[in-house]
Amino acid sequence: MPTSPWQRPHPSCFGTKRSCQIVRQNARVSLDAIDAVNWSTIPNPTWHQCDDPERVAHALRLLTVSTTANETGDAASLLAGGGFVCSHAAMVFPAAYAATPVLLDLVEHGQRPRIKEAAIGLLADALGYFPTAGHNRVYTPYGTDVPLCCAIARLIRGRRSTLLVHGKSGKQLLAEAELHWRMTIEETEHQPDGTLTALAALEGAPFATPGEAELHNPHSERPAATTVWIDALTTDGSGAACFHLGQPPSEVLPGSVLYPAECGRREH
Ligand SMILES: [Zn+2]
Repeated sequence: MPTSPWQRPHPSCFGTKRSCQIVRQNARVSLDAIDAVNWSTIPNPTWHQCDDPERVAHALRLLTVSTTANETGDAASLLAGGGFVCSHAAMVFPAAYAATPVLLDLVEHGQRPRIKEAAIGLLADALGYFPTAGHNRVYTPYGTDVPLCCAIARLIRGRRSTLLVHGKSGKQLLAEAELHWRMTIEETEHQPDGTLTALAALEGAPFATPGEAELHNPHSERPAATTVWIDALTTDGSGAACFHLGQPPSEVLPGSVLYPAECGRREH
């Protein structure tokens, strides 16, 4: 702290310096988050150099520290040109899952409004595009073989408050993410007629029924192998849900997770 008047900075300079420091700190946090990912272990479905996940990390660093419109645009173009998504082919790559938290950080703490807007646009592409065949699922801390779109959508839903204050584009991205619902079964009750009623926790938006879902049994080696038809669904605003299966498979257990079946089939 300054100890004498001549050492004390002018209040406005002090404020600018302080906000510059915060901006630098936020950029440092994003750069550290990029460095914390082991990009070399992420598959590159095409084997093309331009789709190398390390190149995604490089482009994310450029986006984070970009200071001019050109620099931001160039970094965003790199990410849109391969590895993260390929906008020409409307294709999303596995590295997009690892890049999503970094882009969400940039939406929240990006140094400039155009960085935030670029990050939102890239996230919308990652959620909307289809993965390459054979690379439409990712390993997550909460389960293996999660559809790539649903894993990205869950990260996006986790930043709800950030996106809600980011205007129309933030709200739109959140609304898209809500469509990739996820339902965790809490209790099951087998009915005398062979049907099953279950209580569950729903993340995302309620969906139309009848609807097809893929069932992830936490104890199964092939979690996405079973599909089920959900005949009816009732929900309240808090995410508590009750649903009905007319023809339940044997392995519907508490702890099982359901995702939209169509998400598991999204691929080029
Ligand atoms: Zn999905």
